[in-house]
Amino acid sequence: MSTPEILYMVVPCYNEEEVLHETAKRLKEKYQSLIEMELISEKSRVVFVNDGSKDKTWQIIQELHAADPAFFSGVNLAHNAGHQNAVLAGLMSVKELCDMAITMDADLQDDINTIDAMVEKYYEGNQVVYGVRSARDTDTFFKKFTAESFYKFMKVMGADVVYNHADFRLMSRRVLAELANFKEVNLFLRGMVPLIGFQSCSVYYERAERFAGESKYPLKKMLAFAINGITSFSTKPLKLITTVGIVMSILSVIAFIWAFIVKIAGHSELGWSSTMCSIWLIGGLQLLGLGIIGEYVGKIYAEVKQRPRYIIADFINDTDADI
Ligand code: UDP
Ligand code: MG
Repeated sequence: MSTPEILYMVVPCYNEEEVLHETAKRLKEKYQSLIEMELISEKSRVVFVNDGSKDKTWQIIQELHAADPAFFSGVNLAHNAGHQNAVLAGLMSVKELCDMAITMDADLQDDINTIDAMVEKYYEGNQVVYGVRSARDTDTFFKKFTAESFYKFMKVMGADVVYNHADFRLMSRRVLAELANFKEVNLFLRGMVPLIGFQSCSVYYERAERFAGESKYPLKKMLAFAINGITSFSTKPLKLITTVGIVMSILSVIAFIWAFIVKIAGHSELGWSSTMCSIWLIGGLQLLGLGIIGEYVGKIYAEVKQRPRYIIADFINDTDADI
């Protein structure tokens, strides 16, 4: 193999003071073994992105950097921009410093030992390597069920995502340069990366339990994330409204004929229940249709404003520090 290339890990952190030390320790061990095996260059770094945490997360990142500037770097966002934006902020900060970048959650749910396989796949010529969960035994039934339904629903709704792949992935410098050209504000990285193309592959790992702390993705955020994923990547729901509209129109013609027959048969007082039902049904469908359209209008509103997706307050990275 030629000279080992530079790997940057991008780790988004939101209120992760409980896990950060452990994550840093394990990543350092992993890096040391990868450097020893000459799989990655000594210039490789781990970049923690502090996503506007309310606890000591940024302080810990600064301490890690001060103690080991040749290893740990940090990006401090000015406010909580959300997981996807935090990942992008990190990737965009390092895109010209590294040959490849891996994004990984801070909570150690993604298996660090998969990094070896990812890096090897990169040397085999893959520009994107997806980390895919082979089992979800450690997730609660609820998390497993909602997450798996999410992937299936995404497919049905026409957004092309890799099944059971979250945001644990390796991307090459080339892919990062292309990703920089995606200017959308409503970020959904796992839909965007497959759109970039290039040679890609998957590696499989078992997802562990969160090392410490609680999930930063409560049901509300998860739902918002799923709706964003669908409406950012597919116009199928809009087309669905048309289909439902057509079906309803046909049904109402049948209902009309039925009502007419009942009328001439002389049972016209029958009308009350069917009228009530159809009022509720049509009203409900109209509101649903409006809601879906509203979702897209809101999205267009956010996109035309072109606000920055994140604001970086500090970037501490010492590329010259000695090992
Ligand atoms: N995260 C973030 N900003 C947020 C919410 C979460 O940067 O607003 C980070 C969090 O620190 C973690 C990752 O995103 O590293 C995934 O979050 P979490 O593990 O809570 O989600 P889950 O695994 O439960 O889906
Ligand atoms: Mg997690």
